[in-house]
Amino acid sequence: MQKLIAGIHHFQANVFSSEPEFFEQMAQGQTPETLFITCSDSRINPNLLTNTGPGELFILRNAGNIIPPWGSVNSGEAATIEYAVVALGVRDIIVCGHSHCGAMQGLLAQESLATMPAVREWLAYAEATRRIMQENYPHLEGDALVTATVQENVLSQLENLRTHPSVAARVARGNLRLHAWVYKIESGEVFTYDPRAEQFTAISTFVPGGVPAVASQRGRTVAPI
Ligand SMILES: [Zn+2]
Repeated sequence: MQKLIAGIHHFQANVFSSEPEFFEQMAQGQTPETLFITCSDSRINPNLLTNTGPGELFILRNAGNIIPPWGSVNSGEAATIEYAVVALGVRDIIVCGHSHCGAMQGLLAQESLATMPAVREWLAYAEATRRIMQENYPHLEGDALVTATVQENVLSQLENLRTHPSVAARVARGNLRLHAWVYKIESGEVFTYDPRAEQFTAISTFVPGGVPAVASQRGRTVAPI
């Protein structure tokens, strides 16, 4: 905790004090253009990854970057998504998974969750991912299995995202784009799902365009990244 207290002192003395007008303007309101949904994992820093600062990303985090489908539960996720879309009018929503995700490892080895009933219950919203892996990737194991699970999960969660009425309406109108990303911790690379190629592509080589129709991703088998 002492490290965090020292960090606040550093922020006030070196960061805030160098740009007080910027923070004063921030107090007037926020106009982020992107909702960034990712895992709670401490190794992910959305602002660091995307070179963005305060006011630029509206962020939703939980174990496994999971989005319960609309109507399944009265969740904080649903409220956060609705607020981002309706009140803030974000233009893009990113669901960003990551390599070595503990939630996805738990999904694959549910016996390891015996003492974490809340986690096990939460991962039920990723049951489609588990079934996709079980039935379509029996040849994978170890890191390759976890990575493919992370990839399939962001696609499954994107489908859940589309069940939210505010999202579905704006996607249909063409003023909201959905993106499936995977962050590879060990290389710093970020991959995005390209529905035309039906695979994840490193963002440095990808021309952005969003995911026009998640339903078209049915039948895919993702290639390893
Ligand atoms: Zn994770």
